[in-house]
Amino acid sequence: MKVIRAKVLGFCMGVRRAVDMAEGELRSGGRVCTMGPLIHNPQVLESLQRQGVEILNENKLPENLADVTVIIRAHGISPVLEDELKKRGARIADATCLRVKASQMKARALTTEGYTLFLAGEKKHGEVIGITGYAPGCIVIAESDGAEHAAADFYRNNPTAKTALIGQTTISAEEYRTIGEAIKKFFPDLVIVDTICGATHDRQEALRELCGEVDAVIVAGGRESANTRRLLAIAQAQNKPAWLVESSAEIPIKIDLYNTVGLCAGASTPDETIDAIERVLLATGHSEHPPSNSHLGKS
Ligand code: SF4
Repeated sequence: MKVIRAKVLGFCMGVRRAVDMAEGELRSGGRVCTMGPLIHNPQVLESLQRQGVEILNENKLPENLADVTVIIRAHGISPVLEDELKKRGARIADATCLRVKASQMKARALTTEGYTLFLAGEKKHGEVIGITGYAPGCIVIAESDGAEHAAADFYRNNPTAKTALIGQTTISAEEYRTIGEAIKKFFPDLVIVDTICGATHDRQEALRELCGEVDAVIVAGGRESANTRRLLAIAQAQNKPAWLVESSAEIPIKIDLYNTVGLCAGASTPDETIDAIERVLLATGHSEHPPSNSHLGKS
């Protein structure tokens, strides 16, 4: 089997920094915790756990965190939660991605200047929850369908409000543009802040290019990772048989029916996982006649 890697894949700058920071803190000794899971990848989390890193739950914070280093993950947290950790004695190691930090600071500045903020992103995503903490009263919009409705609702009682739009760093450019246009129907002076991270876009574009060269696609990464799931959706939208696998053990048996397989990976997938999956694929044979896509379930 021939395996072609996407030109851009795996750890982004923010995730690499967070993992490096956790490993550095472990080397320094002492008790190390992360505020929530550090990244959305089970292998990395298991490895850190084996080395002694504990994951704190926001709703069950220990009373005493003296002598504990708490690492803030790449998605960031709200300032209220950060203050709470400090109050309990924690030493903070801030691994908030610099791009997310920039969004947090922008959200705070706009709110202070009297803007009402629309925040486009997944309501339950850690990054979105963190940013809302910097912009009390902001309106979270999960998808373009809801944007016009939310803007109309707000306009009814606040027709002269100053408004701004910030997006989750991993939102698609198309979705963000549509949300902005929907809000502008009510607030034509809407200030749209460019917060989209190129890392996600680069991985998606590399996959689109890859799809033109391969018969099937393996997406390596955690099922909890939104950007990894989006890669799977992109491959499927290009009519490629595609599977999301968290490790080489999950590679489907029927992959050996394909001559050329593309390998891409989400922004929180470590190099070792990608390498291990590639090794297994390369060791896999293939039959003479790949089946048509319609015979295969897509995971
Ligand atoms: S995807 Fe972009 S914003 Fe998110 S952690 Fe990675 S570099 Fe930072």
